[in-house]
Amino acid sequence: MTARRDDLRAETLLATSGRSNDPNVVNPPIYRASTHLYPDCAALRAGQLSNRDGAFFYGRRGGPTQWALAQALTALDPGAAGTVLYPSGSAAIAGALLAALAPGDVLLVTDNAYEPTRTIATGMLARLGVEARFFDPLDVAGFAAQLCERTTAVLLESPGSLSMEVCDIPALAAAARAHGAAVLIDNTWASPLGFKALDHGCDISIQALTKHVGGHSDLMMGSCTAAGPWHGKLRAVSQQLGQIVSPDEAALALRGLRTLAVRLERETASALAVARWLAGRPEVAQVLCPMLPGAPGHDLWLRDFSGGCGLFSFILANDIDDAARCRLIDALELFGIGYSWGGFESLALPVDPGRIRTASRWAAPGLAVRLSIGLEDPDDLIADLERGFVAMARG
Ligand SMILES: *Cc1c(COP(=O)(O)O)cnc(C)c1O
Repeated sequence: MTARRDDLRAETLLATSGRSNDPNVVNPPIYRASTHLYPDCAALRAGQLSNRDGAFFYGRRGGPTQWALAQALTALDPGAAGTVLYPSGSAAIAGALLAALAPGDVLLVTDNAYEPTRTIATGMLARLGVEARFFDPLDVAGFAAQLCERTTAVLLESPGSLSMEVCDIPALAAAARAHGAAVLIDNTWASPLGFKALDHGCDISIQALTKHVGGHSDLMMGSCTAAGPWHGKLRAVSQQLGQIVSPDEAALALRGLRTLAVRLERETASALAVARWLAGRPEVAQVLCPMLPGAPGHDLWLRDFSGGCGLFSFILANDIDDAARCRLIDALELFGIGYSWGGFESLALPVDPGRIRTASRWAAPGLAVRLSIGLEDPDDLIADLERGFVAMARG
C-alpha cells in the first residue's frame, strides 16, 4: 500500500519532500541557470503560457533546485497551494504586504512586530498611500474595534520576537476575515512545525528561512506560503519585483530543512531547561518563554502550537541597570552577541521591547535580555550564565 502524503507527519515530510526527480540521487542537483532551453518554437510559446513551479521559462522564475525547496515548504503547511521564495525574511514580509495592499488601504500591524516590519509599514507603504495602524496584540476586542472599511490586511507575529507575548491568533484572524481583511503572519518563531498558520485562520504564512530553516547561520532567505488565490498574487508581485534566490542557497536551505525537527526539538528542550533555571534566580524578575508553564502566553501556546524553539527573553530585577546587564552579557563565553537567531550556536542580546511600541505599554519590571538557545549542552549554557551573573554582581 502506498503512503498518502496527507497522512505523513512533519518529520517524514521533512525527509521525503523536495527530493530529486532522478531516482539515482537523493537531493536535487544545483541547477545554475539563467537560460532555459526549448526544443522548438512551439515549446517556447507553450512555455510562456505556463507560469508555475516546474515549468521551465527563464532563470528569474526559478529552476528545479528552488522548486524543490518551495515544494518541501508547501508540504509542511496543510491547506497551502504553494510557496514563494525571497532573498531574505524582510523581502518576504515586504512582498506579502505589497501583494495584499493598494493605495488608500489601511494595514493593521501588531505592536510587537519585528522592527524592520514596522519600518516597511511606516516607510515604503506610507509613501505608496497605505496607512499603517498598530494594535495591542493581547486586546482582541480593541483589535476588532480598529477594523474599518479600508482595512484590507492585518499583520500578526506570535510570539513577538523580543517581547514573546503569544496572541490569540484564531480570534484575531476570525475578526479580520469577517471584515474581509487578509491575515498575514510572521511565523518565523514557530516555523510550520510549531504552528500551522493556515489551519488557524491565516492566509499567508511568512518565514525568515534565515533563522530555523537555514539553521546554520550561513544564509539569508525568506518565504511566503499560502492557499490558492494568495499564492498566485504573491507570485505575480514577486516576479514583477524580480525576486529570485540562488540555487546554491536554495540547496543550503533544503539541507537545513532536513534536520529542522530534530534541531527544534533539542533547542526547545534546552531552552526550557535554561528558562527553568533562570526562573529560580534572584537576579531574574520574569522569564518570557512561551513553553514554560506559568509564563505569559503559555496557555495559548499550549492550545494553538505544536512546538517551540530556542528563542526567549527574560527580565532582570528592577535594581539592575544597563551597565550591569552589559556586564552579564559581555562575560558570557558560550553565547555570542548578535541579532540573527535560530542557528546551531547560542546568542544573547540586550533588548528594549518598549522602545518602538506605539499602541501598547511595555510594563516589564526591569531590563530585558533575549537568548537564542542553540545546540550546545544546556548544562554548559547554564554554567556560562552563572558566570555572567557573578560578573554582573562584581560591578
Ligand atoms: C530575522 C527576522 C525576520 C527577517 O529575516 P531576514 O532574513 O533577516 O530579513 C523577520 N521576522 C522575524 C521575526 C525575524 O526574527
